Amino acid sequence: MNKINITRILERLERLALCTESSNGVTRRSFTEQSEQAEKLVIQWMQEAGMAVRKDAMNNVIGRFEGKDPNMPVLMMGSHIDTVINGGKYDGTLGVISAIEVIHVLHESKQIPEHPLEVVCFCDEEGTRFHTTFLGSRAMVGALTADDLTKCDDHGISVAQAMMENGLIPECYQYAKRQAGSILAYLELHIEQGPVLEYIKQPCGSVSGIAGVSRYTFTIKGKAGHAGTVPMKKRQDALSGAAEILVKIEEMAKQYSPLVATVGKLVVGPGTSNVIPGIVKGTLDVRDTEVKRKSEYLTKLFADVNKMVKRRNLTCQFEKILEIAPVSCSRKIIDCIDTAMLINGINPHQLMSGAGHDAMIMAELTNVGMIFVRCREGISHHPNEFVTPADIEISAKILLDAVWMIANDVSVNEVERE
Ligand SMILES: [Zn+2]
Repeated sequence: MNKINITRILERLERLALCTESSNGVTRRSFTEQSEQAEKLVIQWMQEAGMAVRKDAMNNVIGRFEGKDPNMPVLMMGSHIDTVINGGKYDGTLGVISAIEVIHVLHESKQIPEHPLEVVCFCDEEGTRFHTTFLGSRAMVGALTADDLTKCDDHGISVAQAMMENGLIPECYQYAKRQAGSILAYLELHIEQGPVLEYIKQPCGSVSGIAGVSRYTFTIKGKAGHAGTVPMKKRQDALSGAAEILVKIEEMAKQYSPLVATVGKLVVGPGTSNVIPGIVKGTLDVRDTEVKRKSEYLTKLFADVNKMVKRRNLTCQFEKILEIAPVSCSRKIIDCIDTAMLINGINPHQLMSGAGHDAMIMAELTNVGMIFVRCREGISHHPNEFVTPADIEISAKILLDAVWMIANDVSVNEVERE
């Protein structure tokens, strides 16, 4: 088998980074001139790697590398090439370019897998332009609705209009749906977007699952009063109560690790220097791969908060605004990635994904697995996003080895015996 061509990967990352609306980092929103330029490059690279390329009805670019039996379920790799505003060079693009590289190496080495392989460059994962995410992968699993196509960008252009401008027929979006059973598995390589791998000094790791999300708004009510005249003992200060609750949220989350909990927004009313805060509104975002642990955390938290606010003569009400179920990665795929890591001299390490990915959507249709690649200081969605060439090379090699195992139905035990 030929080697991963790291120079080719790095050149391609730079070339995609030039398809940008802004000079500060990379801004590439869907259905723009820049995304079209980027798609053309991806199509060209897929063809050079020996793939037959098509676009489906939701603008997903799909390259296919035929296996020994074209009728077998396909092993799919993929990610996205759209970005946030002033994002980085690696989020999504690294997964697409690495997947193309894997096929390119097989093509150059004249290796034909049992199962056909496909590389998918998903349409609009970030949701930057239309404020609605995962357009391409949701269409592929049949979870996209006609209502999603009515969502508009900041200039009032809808998804449907943008599709038409790009030669697609919006009404046909359902044709992008793939049948359950036609996809053997979905594998995605992605930057970690967190600091764990850097902290444990690992170039990459396999993802155990993608965290589910419970999001709440909360309102703490007390009593506003004059900052000079109301004695401390008589106060019903909503913000002091909030401070205590915030510490509780954080301290308890540490006991329920790897669960993470974040209060990302607080609004204090009336919000003046000489008035005791009478009301505080905020948000709570709790994520975990285990539903049971998350629900235990929330139950205990709400009970403790209740006691706290009573003691302070306040009230606190939580209202759920979002619930996303967690996704477990396939045990078999994790084993293949772990084995591929061992073959390449890397200690297997599993970590949770706290952010959503196309793999989370694809899990509705098939078994999924993810390889996370270390990124500097865990920074993502920012021009400073960075991955070392050495980490990219070893991670792409691990993807290649894992894909080869899965696409040839090699069980992990057989590899270990070799
Ligand atoms: Zn991404």
